[in-house]
Amino acid sequence: MSIRKVAVLGSTGSVGKQALEIIDARPDLELHSILCRRNIGLLLQQKEKFLPSISAIVSPEGNIPPDIIKGAEVLDQAVEGADIVLNAIVGSAGLRASILCQKLDIPLALANKESLVIGGELLRDHLKAGKVIPVDSEHSTIERCLQSEKRPVRGITLTASGGSVLLMPIDEIRTAGPERILKHPTWEMGARITVDSATMVNKAYEVIEAGWLFENIPVEVVIHPQSIVHSFIRLEDGSWKALLGQPDMRIPIQFALEWPDRELDVIAGDKPFDWGTLAFSRMDEERYPAFNTVVQTGIDGKTFPAVANAADEVAVQAFLDGRILFGNIAEIIDEVLSLHRSYHIRSLEDVLEADRNARTVAAGIVSKLC
Ligand code: MG
Repeated sequence: MSIRKVAVLGSTGSVGKQALEIIDARPDLELHSILCRRNIGLLLQQKEKFLPSISAIVSPEGNIPPDIIKGAEVLDQAVEGADIVLNAIVGSAGLRASILCQKLDIPLALANKESLVIGGELLRDHLKAGKVIPVDSEHSTIERCLQSEKRPVRGITLTASGGSVLLMPIDEIRTAGPERILKHPTWEMGARITVDSATMVNKAYEVIEAGWLFENIPVEVVIHPQSIVHSFIRLEDGSWKALLGQPDMRIPIQFALEWPDRELDVIAGDKPFDWGTLAFSRMDEERYPAFNTVVQTGIDGKTFPAVANAADEVAVQAFLDGRILFGNIAEIIDEVLSLHRSYHIRSLEDVLEADRNARTVAAGIVSKLC
């Protein structure tokens, strides 16, 4: 089997770290490059341990050793020469990297869902060419379920844990503090995505993401607190197909890096009796007011999803900083969207401009609230 050279963008984050372990353990994968935003300490450790050809930092602070690449061209240097790029950059900053993969015609293992949420329009060619491989666990599941289906499917059902507010008394949700919201029941993730899963904004992004990846298949969401079923497809005859197992991001990461049909190593050791009782229920929309708002931006298209994402990023940070209430997050997204005058996206700059303006508006609303 040929060696595949992997660029890991966002190597110091949770997905990036797990990817390095997988690449290290597999003789058919070679670490081409690592890139991080600013965690130079961990980047240096990774460089020493995993020996990539290129190590790069986007926002260097202080003394950076000369063999670490920095400056305006870091992204190009990290991506060029790779056989596949894992984009695990956090937030809207990941879109530029995804567009670059399309330009250089390099398969893109996509953990940065914002790329599709805010800039799906700009990635149409790569999507059409089948070169965007989802790393998001739900979409990886759908991809695998669809792989052997020859007939059209009726629908996609994304599972959602319901986050930390699932069982909270509804009148306590609005004022719940970060310590309560950050207690995610099943998945271990960064702070922002944990808040986004409590508001269900993350799931709304995933609905939009599914719309780009699996065009023309209707998408629904079901609450499944155990996170054992990683999503379903519904077949022509009404029966269901799913992928099950303990939540473990290494499974979708390995699948994407070995896509489309290379051999996979055993990662999980769980058995069905480890899972306990599996439950499914309808989503209570009152509990998650931001969900429909953000899903609607995907239907409206244009700059709306980028604006929702920017407003959400600002609001979530303000919440984590203790400046606003949890309930304000949905209200801020709503208000920023209602003030936005949308336009069609033709370039990265179009998206970035909408993003910048929305951040300014959101920050203004935050400072009025505190
Ligand atoms: Mg997910």
